[in-house]
Amino acid sequence: MKLNNATIAQLGEHIAHPTYPRHALGHGIVHIGVGGFHRAHEAVYTERFLRLTQDQNWGICGIGLRESDSAMAQVLREQDYLYSLMELGQAEYPRVEVIGAISDYLFAPDSPAAVLEKLASPQTRIVSLTITEGGYLLDDHSGEFNFDHADIVHDLANPQSPRTVFGYLSAALATRRERGLPAFTLMSCDNLPHNGDKARHALLSFAARHDQALASWIAENASFPNSMVDRITPITTSAHKELLRNFAAIEDAWPVVCEPFLQWVMEDDFCNGRPAWEQVGVQFTADVAPYEQMKMRLLNASHSAMSYLGYLMGYRYSHEVMQDARLSGFIRRFMDLDVTPTLGTIEGISLEQYKDTLVERFANPRIGDQLARLCMDGSSKIPKFILGTLEERLEAGAPAHRFALILAGWALYLHNARQPGADYKVEDPLADQLLSATAEAVGISGRLLGLEEIFGPQLQHSVGFVTAVDTALQQLQHQGVTATLEQETWAA
Ligand code: NAD
Repeated sequence: MKLNNATIAQLGEHIAHPTYPRHALGHGIVHIGVGGFHRAHEAVYTERFLRLTQDQNWGICGIGLRESDSAMAQVLREQDYLYSLMELGQAEYPRVEVIGAISDYLFAPDSPAAVLEKLASPQTRIVSLTITEGGYLLDDHSGEFNFDHADIVHDLANPQSPRTVFGYLSAALATRRERGLPAFTLMSCDNLPHNGDKARHALLSFAARHDQALASWIAENASFPNSMVDRITPITTSAHKELLRNFAAIEDAWPVVCEPFLQWVMEDDFCNGRPAWEQVGVQFTADVAPYEQMKMRLLNASHSAMSYLGYLMGYRYSHEVMQDARLSGFIRRFMDLDVTPTLGTIEGISLEQYKDTLVERFANPRIGDQLARLCMDGSSKIPKFILGTLEERLEAGAPAHRFALILAGWALYLHNARQPGADYKVEDPLADQLLSATAEAVGISGRLLGLEEIFGPQLQHSVGFVTAVDTALQQLQHQGVTATLEQETWAA
């Protein structure tokens, strides 16, 4: 049965679906970057809120800015913006529900004016983002906005026909200001430290370049809550679609799959109202920093740590990595010995329990989280998830050999991508620089750590650390990953 408004009433009783009048939903929320994660996280919390309260003000209108979003635009349109969520956990069968919180979608390349109007609409009170870690165009070390990006150059020259998120947001906020409308909350849901502060800095930097008065107005009137977001959401595959068809008799061209675990901790800083998400499990707090630090340094950093080494060992899914005691032991020691000492006490959290839960979540065989997904965009993930911890450990004079092995794993993954027989491509905005730095087998570590846009200006001068990466890389190259991991060195 194809999923749409007409068929929703025929869903099996065990499949929860919208119980509020979807046709009457206003779009208090506009979301840019409707991919897997938004559909498994913010849209799910919002769905729960709509079902619970029947409030009609907080529906979501999705927006896709990139040409590659045309497939999502088409699928959602054909399904009346409904989609299936499949939770894959311990239970033998998936838990399936149909989500209706997104009730419209605008594809910007087809209708930029409609997108600008939607963002400027009085009904729009929150604009949320999942545009990936690299989408904020901020240098990880200097914090500066990348004005040299070709699309930013375009947007500054053509403010009424933008291409980037910052071009759209800035033009829409200019219209709101002219029309005497309040600003909106810009709510980043990307995995980056202080995501609200980063979104604010990027937007204000862009806006100030062409209109200082507008930037000041945004700074005074908009708000930018920081948040910690968590739910492992792999890329949907045809096997997932088939499982949905067999298990729930639903034909959905793009269901979303995720683990049962779901968490959202957020600062309560909304300039223009918000849904009472606390009624459906969102935790509001005055300071989200300790939670986001814990999550990024433990969960996201472990993902990066396992992905390259695991891929080199021939694994393709996170649960395969966790079944290999050598690699899962290495990851746990990295969490315990390298990361945990950098985390303070966090109210209401036992770090031991949190790490145990992570190990369970990584090991979930049903979800099939792809290492290829975790390997993507290393140049923006590694600085955000790993380098902060590394710098603190180096400053404290602590051993950094496990960090060295993780970076050596990345280096070898990059180097091998160009070797005959490689069955993967490096997916990264800086792929060209990464591949040229790692092309020649000799001297890789020095050249890789010399990429200042990733590692900053200092690390390449830390002779001891560069040597440690080099040594680890040579071990990986000459002995292989398995034999390297078997050494006692990594245990202490
Ligand atoms: P996805 O590939 O399914 O979707 C990404 C969306 O962002 C697409 O619509 C894409 O067009 C858009 N996008 C990418 N770069 C953009 C840019 N520069 N400007 C505007 N739009 C852009 O990915 P996803 O799984 O939804 O993950 C998106 C982000 O969500 C991650 O990068 C991460 O920050 C966060 N997140 C993901 C997970 C997860 O498990 N997938 C978990 C926590 C947080």
